[in-house]
Amino acid sequence: MKNIKLNCDILDKLDKTFYSKLNITPLHNPKIVSINRPLANQLGFTSENLNSENFLKFLNGEYLAKGSTTYSKAYSGHQFGYFVPNLGDGRAINLGKLNNYHLQLKGAGLTPYSRNGDGRAVLRSTIREYLLSEAMYALKISTTRAIAMITSDSKVLREYESEQGAIVLRASTSWIRFGSFEYAYMGKNKEQNLKQLADFVIEESYPEFQNVSNKYEELYFAVVDKTIEMIALWQSIGFMHGVMNTDNMSIEGLTIDYGPYAMMEEFDKGFICNLSDHEGRYSFENQPFIAQWNLSVLAKVLSPIADHKLLESYNDTFIGKFKKRYFAIMKEKLGLYNTDIDDTSLILRLFSALHSESIDYNSFFWNISNGDFSSIDTHQMKAWLELYEKRLEKEKVSKESRLVKMKKINPKYILRNYMLQDAIDVAQKGDFSLVNSLLTIAQNPYDEHEEFHHYTQLSKNFKTLKCSCSS
Ligand code: AMP
Ligand code: MG
Repeated sequence: MKNIKLNCDILDKLDKTFYSKLNITPLHNPKIVSINRPLANQLGFTSENLNSENFLKFLNGEYLAKGSTTYSKAYSGHQFGYFVPNLGDGRAINLGKLNNYHLQLKGAGLTPYSRNGDGRAVLRSTIREYLLSEAMYALKISTTRAIAMITSDSKVLREYESEQGAIVLRASTSWIRFGSFEYAYMGKNKEQNLKQLADFVIEESYPEFQNVSNKYEELYFAVVDKTIEMIALWQSIGFMHGVMNTDNMSIEGLTIDYGPYAMMEEFDKGFICNLSDHEGRYSFENQPFIAQWNLSVLAKVLSPIADHKLLESYNDTFIGKFKKRYFAIMKEKLGLYNTDIDDTSLILRLFSALHSESIDYNSFFWNISNGDFSSIDTHQMKAWLELYEKRLEKEKVSKESRLVKMKKINPKYILRNYMLQDAIDVAQKGDFSLVNSLLTIAQNPYDEHEEFHHYTQLSKNFKTLKCSCSS
């Protein structure tokens, strides 16, 4: 792959306390499960590259591209509210940067930050991350990406069972987390390390602040704004992250580290998708408040280099701004474009009806985007529909153009946990066709895909699956 040249300038720009150089431990007998060709091509991999033996070796860490130095990053984090000083890339190994994207192999072996872990990722969780990150991207939600994934004959023990070891090649414009700043705050040269890290983030992700006098305050304000946008989009599509620890919060406001996540099916505002989250810290309705809490941790650790009071008072505006943005998106999902004094209460009544009558969240929006109200047959939802129909009369946009617009914001398909499980079940037997079909659906969620229409339905067998952390 002579045409692929990676850049590792980051290693000269950050102090050595922030990373460790290391070697990858390849998997045994690797096999390609899926390649995300549109993204791979965008980054400069040619079809010849992707079909070559070297590409499989590249995914397994046996072949390094030109310019590549392998390293993992150190970071800290608040996990479930408690500070853990020494986290870091426990199973992710960075390869370098290609066309603005830092590439990393997740599941590529032990690192100095593996703690009690094995440095591995299993096929099941790798498929989940691979597919959902691309689904989020297609839904226009800021996220890290996935270029390709492999499985192998290597055995990895999880919850007393042996599973197949897998690797996903992830790509992100930044892998810096709130926890990276917590790590800089902890060390000896606090101020110097914080400045260096903040300057690096500004140069890479927020170049517009490079020559601004209060650049660290501006950086923080921008992170707050990006986080608000991300959370408003999460809530509007019903995405639940499940592990919103500060080490899983991106400095660019990207959705990062897909673990026990779920997409909302039967609407339940208190839904907890992470089996290990006994108190519901990361429940659906808590996500905005947790994001704000995480931002207050970031404000605290930036305090040696920025005005803490200013940062905190900016963060105090989080919930107000979040609500405004969330309701604006919900209005668009409902095809409401002009303003009416009762819009907020119309949306609140909808949430309340969806919740108490356990309505399949995304199907509801898809159905109304087709002008189809026939499935609305429960008491509260029927009462709400009457109000909605009256409200629609106040719109100037024609029904036809409203429905066209609504179908561009309300997807026909979201990746429900049982669909992912179907793909996992056959992949574990060596058949990767459903993973690849789901990738196509994930990348084109607003399209019909008639042959997969059954996936618009709730699972008959079980209510939304729950998963646990770090599998
Ligand atoms: P998470 O909340 O899943 O993003 O992971 C929390 C921390 O645990 C991170 O520092 C991960 O790198 C680390 N970690 C998770 N799983 C493993 C594993 N199997 N081996 C080593 N480290 C891991
Ligand atoms: Mg993580």
